[in-house]
Amino acid sequence: MQPIHVVGGGLAGSEAAWQIARLGVPVMLHEMRPIRGTDAHQTDGLAELVCSNSFRSDDVENNAVGLLHEEMRRADSLILQCGDRHKVPAGGALAVDREAFSEAVGAALADHPLVTVERGEIEGLPPETWDSTIIATGPLTSPALAEAIRDLTGEKSLAFFDAIAPIVYKDSIDFSKAWYQSRYDKGDGADYINCPLDKAGYEAFIEALLAADTALAKEWEGTPYFDGCLPIEVMAERGPETLRFGPMKPVGLTNPHSGEDAYAVVQLRQDNKLGTLYNMVGFQTKLKHGAQVEIFRAIPGLENARFARLGGLHRNTFLNSPTLLDPTLRLKAAPRLRFAGQITGVEGYVESAAIGLLAGRFAAAERLGQEPSMPPRTTAFGALIDHITGGAHAETFQPMNVNFGLFPPLEGRKMRKRERRPAMARRALDDLAGWLGQNRAAAE
Ligand code: FAD
Repeated sequence: MQPIHVVGGGLAGSEAAWQIARLGVPVMLHEMRPIRGTDAHQTDGLAELVCSNSFRSDDVENNAVGLLHEEMRRADSLILQCGDRHKVPAGGALAVDREAFSEAVGAALADHPLVTVERGEIEGLPPETWDSTIIATGPLTSPALAEAIRDLTGEKSLAFFDAIAPIVYKDSIDFSKAWYQSRYDKGDGADYINCPLDKAGYEAFIEALLAADTALAKEWEGTPYFDGCLPIEVMAERGPETLRFGPMKPVGLTNPHSGEDAYAVVQLRQDNKLGTLYNMVGFQTKLKHGAQVEIFRAIPGLENARFARLGGLHRNTFLNSPTLLDPTLRLKAAPRLRFAGQITGVEGYVESAAIGLLAGRFAAAERLGQEPSMPPRTTAFGALIDHITGGAHAETFQPMNVNFGLFPPLEGRKMRKRERRPAMARRALDDLAGWLGQNRAAAE
């Protein structure tokens, strides 16, 4: 049987290779390190954790990433197996000894008879003779490959340093202060959620922005921002009125609670098809996370805001997956190429590995002449892949962590907030069992 090729031996590529091999299909994993390095990796180990050693919360019932851990465990994930084996104390989080973890991943793959690891950079598109390839080269994809992908997809900007705006759970917004309205009632007139600031509130907000700490790493100083998409604190530095004439302009809006015009307005725009998440329009930022929470919760209507994602700044290479990929992660323009990991527009070690797991299973199923089977939408796997390949708005697509806002709402009786997440998690694990059962039956 011809091998499946996996390019990139990071979190996603290692997981994809493992899944392919465990389904009985040969796999060749291509990793460029140590022959060519990246700006962040320090070792030649597979699945190196470039920054924190945490896989975040391991709370299966109340945290979507904890649920994703559990789904990955049940799907025989190599990353979770090695993570669990090398965990270090971290309260409710799953944190790992990064060296032992990476060594364990490398050893498991090296020991598997169907896996071959080749060291070397894939410098352009994989050769045509590779009829099934998974590209999992991550946010720091080497320039030659990034260039070739950009030529193939026609996307203007595949790689850049981007500042991302925070995303808020709609059910945490206080609608006794906020209201739905589009500027000048355009569109259907209610596409945005608006939070009003009076003069004193606006001035205090600008002062807080200017005083706050930013999280800009030294080596990135001077790097241009994507498409002139400036962080709010940089705009505030240009003058106290810049934001009020930019993303916070109050024109074309009427506050129905007070009947008065606001001095400045923060607008939030729907971020997913379910309408559970809203992003803060124009609020891309590189402020430290603690400062963001403090400053944004001072905005009327957002006092109790919960954030599905906070803003941030990092170099990134990712596809506009909602337009470019099909539901099984194949490039529509060249279906022999499948993508996995952070390059597909998920964010984080665990999410990257989870997409690697799915890509590996899909590619192996195809090689075995089976129809790839999609995980149910109600699972964390399904919610995440559905978001990147269709659920997210292509025009504002930005990397996403898994969160309960991506899941379809529960049907049936009304529940108290604290009961909802455990109920969603139970539904996910029940539905996952059915999906894993079907996959097992197909493999036999
Ligand atoms: P990676 O793990 O980066 O793996 C990609 C692999 O592909 C690398 O080993 C690379 O050497 C290889 N490669 C690249 N190009 C080629 C090529 N042409 N040929 C062959 N091999 C190639 N997420 C978190 O959850 N927590 C964090 O603390 C965190 N910190 C981050 C810090 C930085 C600086 C960056 C850039 C990202 C961070 N992330 C973090 C985000 C992200 O989750 C990780 O980058 C994650 O490792 C992504 O997994 P991946 O498999 O997609 O990519």
